[in-house]
Amino acid sequence: MRDLPPISQPGDQHQKPDHQAPVHREAEGTGTAANSLSGTPTLPRAVLCNPTGSPTVPHRPSRVGPNTDLKPLALKRQLIPQVSMDYPLIPASRPHSPWGRFDPYDSPEVCQKKCLGCIFLSVGESGLGKSTLINSLFLTDLYKDRKVPNAQERIDQTVNTIKHTISIEEKGIKVRLTVIDTPGFGDAVNNTESWNPIEDYIDQQFEQYFRDESGLNRSNIQDNRVHCCLYFISPLGHGLRPLDVACMKALHNKVNIVPVVAKADSLTQAEVHRKKMKIREEIEQFGINIYQFPECDSDEDEDFKKQDQILKDSTPFAVIGSNVQVESKGRKFRGRVYPWGVVEVENSAHSDFLLLRNMLVRTHMQDLKDVTGETHYENYRAQFVNHIT
Ligand code: GDP
Repeated sequence: MRDLPPISQPGDQHQKPDHQAPVHREAEGTGTAANSLSGTPTLPRAVLCNPTGSPTVPHRPSRVGPNTDLKPLALKRQLIPQVSMDYPLIPASRPHSPWGRFDPYDSPEVCQKKCLGCIFLSVGESGLGKSTLINSLFLTDLYKDRKVPNAQERIDQTVNTIKHTISIEEKGIKVRLTVIDTPGFGDAVNNTESWNPIEDYIDQQFEQYFRDESGLNRSNIQDNRVHCCLYFISPLGHGLRPLDVACMKALHNKVNIVPVVAKADSLTQAEVHRKKMKIREEIEQFGINIYQFPECDSDEDEDFKKQDQILKDSTPFAVIGSNVQVESKGRKFRGRVYPWGVVEVENSAHSDFLLLRNMLVRTHMQDLKDVTGETHYENYRAQFVNHIT
């Protein structure tokens, strides 16, 4: 075994991950006061109100595969119900099949027009394998200088946000990725409201964008809105913990939540299946609005529809991370070596890693950004306007 050098994704001859790309780290601080934009009042946290008369996102019927008992989650996304019908809230419908239409790497015009980049938030208790997974996903080494706090330090620590930016290359196109870490989350003896700094961070990016958008120099807006929250769920236990429920509910109308079951190699195949079902049931039961994949166009070919369905049925993604390259039987792959065998990160029989990676940086990156702008940000903007008028 040795440290992982760049390796390409299976089936992609063109991908050359940029390991030499500079990684920028930036401590964002915690809480509203520390992060307030200079000279601007802080917006109070959004309050959900009575839904009467509020518009809703157009319904996208969920699809159920013929031979699966893992049912896709029903559509739950709603606008935060406080807004007046005067605001231009939501486009008439969301584009279907981002796989086909929005694979950004397939269209030079799109590449030129759109700034390819995405902002991810990584949330979950310490030790769940977040850093390892992020490094594995983006073939980078974001955390080499990380100092893991000891138990006493973790008790004293408040939840923080730390920003890293990297550039990767997909099909020869440079993509700028930002990862926001949330160290300290879930580590305290009492974790009540430990999601507040995360919620504040998301709001502050909306607030900044809103102010820039309303200002005079609108051509050079720096868009730091968070597009996706990777929420790490422990493989231990029996489904969601109260903290998971409370945190996801606090964030679900502000960011696209993509839940993942961490360290899936600690579960048998049957356990992974049961855990996914249980988590999906609880997501439904607690009314948590996770990111909903857009519908597949009805005229897509069968193979495409099948792939789309597999993706939808895989939620929450059961992932395995490793930054170690293993050599076995003449093959090199990222994996984890155990006394009883080797787990391959990118083997779809072992984990949903590849599904998740492709979805995040290829097929659904644009949709994540669209939903951020057209649903989450518009909700925020409408509340902001309501609040100041
Ligand atoms: P973080 O604190 O959530 O960022 O977790 P780390 O990425 O630092 O990982 C914590 C420990 O879990 C390390 O010893 C990792 O090697 C290990 N780890 C990371 N990913 C996995 C995984 O997918 N499966 C298993 N079994 N262990 C993992």
